[in-house]
Amino acid sequence: MHELSIAQSIVEVVEARAAEYNAARVKGVRLKIGEASGVVTDSLTFCFEMLASLEPTLAGAQLLIDIVPHRAHCRHCAQEFSVTNFVAQCPTCKEWSDEIVSGTELQVLEMEYET
Ligand SMILES: [Zn+2]
Repeated sequence: MHELSIAQSIVEVVEARAAEYNAARVKGVRLKIGEASGVVTDSLTFCFEMLASLEPTLAGAQLLIDIVPHRAHCRHCAQEFSVTNFVAQCPTCKEWSDEIVSGTELQVLEMEYET
């Protein structure tokens, strides 16, 4: 399962940061996930909670997810538009774009912790 390995990486990153900040307990982790990243957020939350429960510092930590829309830029008419079903076709001039502006990210934005 893809989400399990992502959750594992997040837990590792957060634990390393928690140690760096001398955090006694991590209360929450905020992620930024693009809607085209292929991550199933429910599944990621489930895996994260399961792994977090095994770590004293992370037990009970909440995963907060900000979904970023999939958007592209049209070179031809210089406008930004929403990508539907992974096809980045400009709604105005019908050109296909390869300039993805957002929607593929997977990033830890911040964490909330107690020392
Ligand atoms: Zn266009």
